[in-house]
Amino acid sequence: MARYTDAVCKLCRRERQKLFLKGAKCFTEKCPIERRNYPPGQHGSGNARRAKVTEYGTQLREKQKIKRMYNLLEKQFRLTFQKASRQRGVTGENLVKRLESRLDNIVYRLGFASSRAAARQLVLHCHIMVNATLVNVPSYILKPGDVITVRPKSRKLEVITESLKRVSERQIPAWLQLDKAALKGTYLNTPERADIPMNANEQLVVELYSK
Ligand code: SF4
Repeated sequence: MARYTDAVCKLCRRERQKLFLKGAKCFTEKCPIERRNYPPGQHGSGNARRAKVTEYGTQLREKQKIKRMYNLLEKQFRLTFQKASRQRGVTGENLVKRLESRLDNIVYRLGFASSRAAARQLVLHCHIMVNATLVNVPSYILKPGDVITVRPKSRKLEVITESLKRVSERQIPAWLQLDKAALKGTYLNTPERADIPMNANEQLVVELYSK
């Protein structure tokens, strides 16, 4: 499957916002956003003349931001949007809730991985179980009550233990419960939009895809 292979910090700089794509580095002063918070490239610096941003441009940037935050490619993101728009309720909120309920996101939120990309790798490489069954599909949508565990054989993996050491830097959301010693997390309930720490306006994505 296609994947983005260029420097991920460029993506944050393009959006001028921390998207937390690089694990531990995102919480240090080495984060490029702390030092160079302007878009990459020769026209990106603060000295360059800024073009007027159109309505379409604003919507596009917001969509790119959310898509990159959740480590998805365009096709996967659009598919998620289409599923969200078929659900009852507010499409934008459904989209964010759906993204939050993905297995790779929950593995990241629980602190088993330091980034969503690392969480995706853990799932793909069969290190994660849902309700005691191995699941290797990062887009698997969890339901309230589901229990996520690290496979017994993988409990000593350095990538997991190192990530868990730093879990206090990221707050575990209220809709998840972590048993750090047992490497076990529980998805307690579907979060409300207000409880999701995601700094973006999903309504602009709805407007963009409705054109
Ligand atoms: Fe890089 Fe993380 Fe900083 Fe983004 S937040 S620029 S991924 S270090």
